[in-house]
Amino acid sequence: MSNYNWCHNPDCHTIETQSRVRGSGDNKVLRTVKIKSHGTDSIWTYFCNNNCLHQFLNKFPSEVANIRPVNKPSETPIQVEKTKEESYRYIWGHGESRRVPYTSTRTTISLKNS
Ligand SMILES: [Zn+2]
Repeated sequence: MSNYNWCHNPDCHTIETQSRVRGSGDNKVLRTVKIKSHGTDSIWTYFCNNNCLHQFLNKFPSEVANIRPVNKPSETPIQVEKTKEESYRYIWGHGESRRVPYTSTRTTISLKNS
């Protein structure tokens, strides 16, 4: 089994960087980037950088979406808790700042235990 991949962006070899230059004299080319595998199956095993990944996604949007179609929304049960807290804010006027109390509302969202 090979321990490298070629970048899967079909246009990787058209991007002008020094790292893609191969050959000598009048026979120089821009070549698709070779990616060494480090034994982990991540997206960076197939694409040399963010730019190539997004060029690929923008070239094949419907194909990518059809790998795992989403036909209805998913839902995560949650608990929403609102708590009131006494706090202060500063109001600037007449050359000085005044500390004024106010009640703030904090909203906490947590996953419902099932
Ligand atoms: Zn690439």
